[in-house]
Amino acid sequence: MSEMNDVKNYLIGLGASKVGFADVKGLASEFVDLPNGISLVLKIPKEAMYLVKEEEYEEYWKCFHAQIDKLTQIALDGEEYIKNLGYDAFALTMTRNECDMERLLSILPYKTIATKSGLGWIGRSALFVTPEYGSAVALGAILTDMPLDFDEPITDSQCDECTNCQDACPVNAINPLKWNDRLNREDIIDIETCGEYIIGQYKAGLGCTKCMSECKLTLEYLKG
Ligand code: SF4
Ligand code: SF4
Repeated sequence: MSEMNDVKNYLIGLGASKVGFADVKGLASEFVDLPNGISLVLKIPKEAMYLVKEEEYEEYWKCFHAQIDKLTQIALDGEEYIKNLGYDAFALTMTRNECDMERLLSILPYKTIATKSGLGWIGRSALFVTPEYGSAVALGAILTDMPLDFDEPITDSQCDECTNCQDACPVNAINPLKWNDRLNREDIIDIETCGEYIIGQYKAGLGCTKCMSECKLTLEYLKG
């Protein structure tokens, strides 16, 4: 499994904050039939999070999109690295992982690969949450047929009794139910109410990232 460690070290060396391995057999077969997933987590820099606090959304979105570009490059470099080892690989970049705009869901959600890789869980907010950075993260992935030693999946919320994100949501879109991998997204968040509010904010040159910025674990990351 030293090749697997080499891949992980390579991706961390490129700047990924966390890397995990998951069994995703069949989950993306409608567009690419590769059974193993490599989840990539990139923390949002603290400086960008301070922009959210100041409601300087234009600058924040620039930083956020720069992080997505970085993540895309890490995934593409990882794809090439794995192919050079003799395996098939497919960087699941945003443009390749088409989003169903009606359901606001990707073909294979990054969050699914990330929880299956044991890198974190889905918060009450329906955002992906890590112990180290809260929900101040961006996610990416690579699919491959390279043999991987899978990490232990996380199947239940680790949000304990915290309700920070629910309390912070200006339109009460977050339900009290805590996530587990047997629930649907609609069980934990009213995505239409959230989406409508965000679109309105976005048109006004603003945004809504309250559930991310007020996440208990995001606040701990910013203090650390
Ligand atoms: S993005 Fe805003 S509106 Fe949507 S759930 Fe989070 S806090 Fe609520
Ligand atoms: S604010 Fe609390 S409940 Fe919401 S996602 Fe973060 S840890 Fe979980």
